[in-house]
Amino acid sequence: MHKILKNVDKVVFGRGSFSQLDEIIEEKRADHDHFMVFLVDKFFEGKPLADKVPVRPEDVLIFVDVDDHEPTTQQVDEIRDNVKKEKGIPSGLIGIGGGSVMDIAKAASLMFTNEGSSSLYQGLNLIKNPGIYHVGVPTISGTGAEVSTTAVVTGPEKKLGLKCEWTPFNQIILDSELISDVPKNQWFYTGMDTYIHCIESETGMYKNTFSTAYGDASLALCRDVFKGENCGQTPENDDKLMVASMMGGLSLTYSEVGVCHALSYGLSFVFGYRHGIANCLAFNHLEDYYGEAVQEFKGMVAQHKIELPKNLADSWTEEQITQMAEVAYNLDHMWKHALGLDWKEKLTLDTIKDLYRRL
Ligand code: NAD
Ligand code: ZN
Repeated sequence: MHKILKNVDKVVFGRGSFSQLDEIIEEKRADHDHFMVFLVDKFFEGKPLADKVPVRPEDVLIFVDVDDHEPTTQQVDEIRDNVKKEKGIPSGLIGIGGGSVMDIAKAASLMFTNEGSSSLYQGLNLIKNPGIYHVGVPTISGTGAEVSTTAVVTGPEKKLGLKCEWTPFNQIILDSELISDVPKNQWFYTGMDTYIHCIESETGMYKNTFSTAYGDASLALCRDVFKGENCGQTPENDDKLMVASMMGGLSLTYSEVGVCHALSYGLSFVFGYRHGIANCLAFNHLEDYYGEAVQEFKGMVAQHKIELPKNLADSWTEEQITQMAEVAYNLDHMWKHALGLDWKEKLTLDTIKDLYRRL
């Protein structure tokens, strides 16, 4: 069976396009209980961007704290419960932030029309009713969360996305002015998420012409942004990274991620490492699987003087390593893509533990 890809409905791309948000959401204001919810990364509280959010008196503006952990099902449930209790069902929800806030917005948009905790819906096609209108505005580029069909959240038992045809945004606004001030380390880690998405998407059994075309285009842009003469955080490269992130997201959505993402999920689940840095920590040691790409990655780490933490495993207990390995091992679809249908004959829990010990 071939996947049916549900894409984002509408895309706006261009510097300054954020100013069109008010006009874009206008026609939706008549839906449900006639108010909008803006979920804005707490980083922007008191900053100029917060003043540009087109909040009207009937609307709700929530600054979302994503600083010390990745998005949780509890966070999503609380937003839904509080807004529903006070005002009812919003006409729409606008998520303004990095992958974390975008995922919270995607998940919350589904939870306004589905009963119970979002942790009940972590998985494929478990959502029963279409969610509400939702808009994504990335302020960091790299995760591809702006176009992906999953809203990744950590629940009591697992880090897994709410994945269904109603998850993708109805509208995204790609305004690269919003990513111009991302701190260098974060810029690199989240940017490398795109690079790794494409390498993994192109290395495995689910790769195909569609996913590889997006992957190749995205990798070319990543190389402009992170390698060579004109690399670095410039307006032109911000444009490129924003498009690379989108195309990387489409590439992996129509293929799959692999070994690095499986390990990264374990690292985030057990130690709370953010996705971007967790990927970098793992990818740095995956020459056996992604050979030349790991060499290229190391070159980019060196070029931008990124200090990746080393010898982490020295302080990990056997129990923590086992727990991470179990999280990773359970990501069957990633291993299948990376190693083939018979992946369990090629890799055991112990192999994964050894990979973690390299860190
Ligand atoms: P993030 O959203 O976690 O944000 C990282 C930090 O940057 C936060 O402290 C945030 O407040 C801050 N920040 C946001 N915008 C900023 C700006 N313009 N300037 C300065 N600081 C800013 O980072 P991320 O890497 O974009 O997202 C990671 C999350 O995305 C993880 O939770 C991961 O699971 C998820 N993810 C989702 C998908 C998907 O397909 N849905 C794919 C990959 C990753
Ligand atoms: Zn990723």
